[in-house]
Amino acid sequence: MRYVVIGNPIAHSKSPQIHAAFAAQFGLADFSYERLLAPLDGFAATARALFDAGAGGANVTVPFKEEAFRFAAGLSDRAAAAGAVNTLIRHDDGRIEGDNTDGAGLVADLLRHGELAGKRVLLLGAGGAARGVLLPLLESKPAYMVIANRTAEKAKMVLDNVLESWKVDRARVPSEYFALGFNDLVDGVPVGVEGRDLKADELSFDVVINATSASLAGEALPIPASVFAPGALAYDMMYGRDETPFLAQARAAGVLARVDGLGMLVGQAAEAFALWTGRRPDVEPVLVQLRNAL
Ligand code: NDP
Repeated sequence: MRYVVIGNPIAHSKSPQIHAAFAAQFGLADFSYERLLAPLDGFAATARALFDAGAGGANVTVPFKEEAFRFAAGLSDRAAAAGAVNTLIRHDDGRIEGDNTDGAGLVADLLRHGELAGKRVLLLGAGGAARGVLLPLLESKPAYMVIANRTAEKAKMVLDNVLESWKVDRARVPSEYFALGFNDLVDGVPVGVEGRDLKADELSFDVVINATSASLAGEALPIPASVFAPGALAYDMMYGRDETPFLAQARAAGVLARVDGLGMLVGQAAEAFALWTGRRPDVEPVLVQLRNAL
């Protein structure tokens, strides 16, 4: 069966390497996975032609995740909550379903490094990446979660939009959640938020996730070292051969557990592979292989 990753640009994508390694784990000789460059104004036509030719599914990357959301005939809960699709699945009846595996990939990688249930979680950023992981993070039952962004209003908007559909089903998201601006994260100063005030000692976190694109620009974030509780895990969605600015910032704050987003990349791919083939690959050896090739 044929699978692809669609994007623009796409030459840099590591997905073919990852999926080839997964397929090899199960000896799937008829599993093929390639890069597919779509014109910036031609995502839907490209995807339609692909599925008409019998492809089994596709991953979708920048800048087409919102278009894939509109293209899909049906959506998983997590894709609906994220407002974006990174995985398309063709069902036997020809229906194309859209899913979003980014959050599951992140959560799986975080769980390789510690617990999430009962932990205090800080999510930094309110762009597409943050939106995609919000619901899976909340479903992992943290003690509470704060989403903080440079532009505070955007954090609040994202939280409201993403969780809109879950308000009626509050049992699915039992943890408390709050939206703040980076300016609110001041050491020793409580914050007034909707619902209840956050006490000063609630502004230290066990898990701090960077979902901003600041690391791409080589910039550290304007947040105090006090956001990292003793024993905290710092996680940067960005990855690379060199230490990212956010992880350097965490190291300077004394954080020992520091992880970049390569495991999230492999994790989201593993989740997509499982959706397509019904088989759950072992991410560990693939992660080692990718890390060595960085
Ligand atoms: P978006 O452009 O959608 O969002 C950007 C976010 O970063 C906004 O919250 C923005 O804040 C914030 N931001 C940008 N520059 C700065 C800065 N200098 N200081 C503080 N905040 C800043 O990007 P995405 O959400 O798509 O991607 C975010 C990151 O996640 C990227 O590094 C991307 O590579 C990574 N990623 C990794 C994945 C993986 O598998 N490992 C998967 C998906 C994404 P504001 O609203 O104030 O502008």
